[in-house]
Amino acid sequence: MLYSKMLIPTLREDPTDAEVISHKLMLRAGMIRKLAAGIYTSLPLGHRVLRKTEEIIREEMNRAGALELTLPFVQPAEIWQESGRWDLYGKELLRFRDRGDRDFCLGPTHEEVITDVVRKEVTSYRQLPLILYQIHIKFRDEIRPRFGVMRAREFVMKDAYSFDVDEEAAEKSYRTMFDTYTRIFERCGLRFRAVEADTGPIGGSFSHEFMVLADSGEDSIFSCDSCSYAANKEKAEIGEEITDTRPVPQQALTRAETPGKRTIEEVSSFLKVTPKNLLKTLLYTADGSTVAVLIRGDHELNEVKLKNLLKADSVTLATDEEVERITSAPKGFAGPIGLKVKIIADHAVKGMNNCVTGGNAQDLHLLNVNRERDFAVDQFADLRAAQAGDRCPRCHGTLAVQRGIEVGHIFKLGIKYSKSLHATYLDPRGKEQYIVMGCYGIGVGRTVAAAIEQNHDKDGIIFPLPLAPFQVIVIPVNVKDTNIRDTAFTLYQSLAKEGLEVLIDDRDERPGIKFKDADLIGIPIRITVGAKAIENNQVDIKIRKTGQMELVQTGQVIEKVKGIVGAL
Ligand code: ATP
Ligand code: MG
Repeated sequence: MLYSKMLIPTLREDPTDAEVISHKLMLRAGMIRKLAAGIYTSLPLGHRVLRKTEEIIREEMNRAGALELTLPFVQPAEIWQESGRWDLYGKELLRFRDRGDRDFCLGPTHEEVITDVVRKEVTSYRQLPLILYQIHIKFRDEIRPRFGVMRAREFVMKDAYSFDVDEEAAEKSYRTMFDTYTRIFERCGLRFRAVEADTGPIGGSFSHEFMVLADSGEDSIFSCDSCSYAANKEKAEIGEEITDTRPVPQQALTRAETPGKRTIEEVSSFLKVTPKNLLKTLLYTADGSTVAVLIRGDHELNEVKLKNLLKADSVTLATDEEVERITSAPKGFAGPIGLKVKIIADHAVKGMNNCVTGGNAQDLHLLNVNRERDFAVDQFADLRAAQAGDRCPRCHGTLAVQRGIEVGHIFKLGIKYSKSLHATYLDPRGKEQYIVMGCYGIGVGRTVAAAIEQNHDKDGIIFPLPLAPFQVIVIPVNVKDTNIRDTAFTLYQSLAKEGLEVLIDDRDERPGIKFKDADLIGIPIRITVGAKAIENNQVDIKIRKTGQMELVQTGQVIEKVKGIVGAL
């Protein structure tokens, strides 16, 4: 491919509207351009990288026996009404009407459509198992599209759905997809981790997120330093070691005036006690009823754990009015003593002694509050958000935190959709059974962006070879010099003939500009053809990732390049 004909509009300066490095570099390298918020064009270079990524995904999905199809992007409201999600999905679902006034939406995901296909086409156990997938556009009207293609509104996803006769078979499909995802991200050349994710009402460890490790990642990953346990922030359990220090003499309960002091920081500095000795009382509304949640002052509540414990569809912090009604005090002064609602507490509260709580009256806190003597807890549970240094829930190891970018998500759905949309099959005895489903997604553009977050330096992108738009770039330092030009073109053609993906920078530009662009767009191998090529048949080969340079005889370039490609 000729550089001059490729449309690679590189930019020298960082675009001002890009916050993260991958977004900056994708714009600067001329891979993408923005059309509207969260809506991007992939220019030829970006397109090639997306295609490379898709091809790896496609090969591995096919190897796993999954079948590719294409589902409609525009979907009628009826199937969403059947599944119940037309009303539940919220504003990420972009709805509109056609000329006949019928309701439609742009597909943010395709469970409804695929279940509709399967309920019509699958009737017998003999047709199962089945894994169907597509690599296609999604639209989600994200509240805050950001970071370029990382969180876009229109984006390409590989979405797959499995259909099985029973739970056991569904778990096998899940395993197969887990292994397939592992191979996909390994083949992409990425450092990643599969972490347990929250499954909501389904339970068990049947949801994993595949996280590309990068310091700029939005997600926290908790992993054990001595076993294979890894989970995302919502899911991370704590193997709490409860040290009940309570046999210490309990001191007399006292009142403390705390005018206007509401937050943990304000109260702890005003009363000169450490946050660790403060007991936070949070009032929550769970499916309409109120509960009080007690958390140690230096800890944070994990709302997902609370939601799962209460088996609630929704949990929200009580409004200021509700807090006043229940505690008879404005927000900021709640405490457990005398509360007439269910009290649940995090395990760490067990070990708290002579602590400080709100006094359920304006500007009042209480000191030396002791559980059992002063108030009762109805239930203890693991409720707090994990922190680095916490005990692993599976062994005696310690949890460490890393940052990551979620690029893939696999989930066991059970019969959620087959029940609501009535997708059944006949078992060997002719009995009708619900099909057990799973769903599996990979964000293609996000994977590319994550690869760049993980692989770049001050000069630009350092593409892992399998994702690179070209494997090799040949740079003639001066195209006006016909000797240099001809040598470069001969080399370019012989590399291409070997099946290598080669770009030749045939532009009449200074070498410095060509080198800068080659570094910016991240081509793994650079071959420079200059005076030495003419004088003593030698070219410079530079490896983008290591910066390593080597003089190679022109006749040995192909062998050398193939060796590097094999090793990278
Ligand atoms: P997130 O929590 O980041 O919003 P999600 O849980 O909504 O992700 P899924 O519905 O599981 O994501 O979608 C599967 C995959 O699609 C994700 O792992 C991610 O790689 C990709 N993806 C999801 N939303 C976006 C988006 N707005 N832009 C780009 N890729 C996305
Ligand atoms: Mg989302």
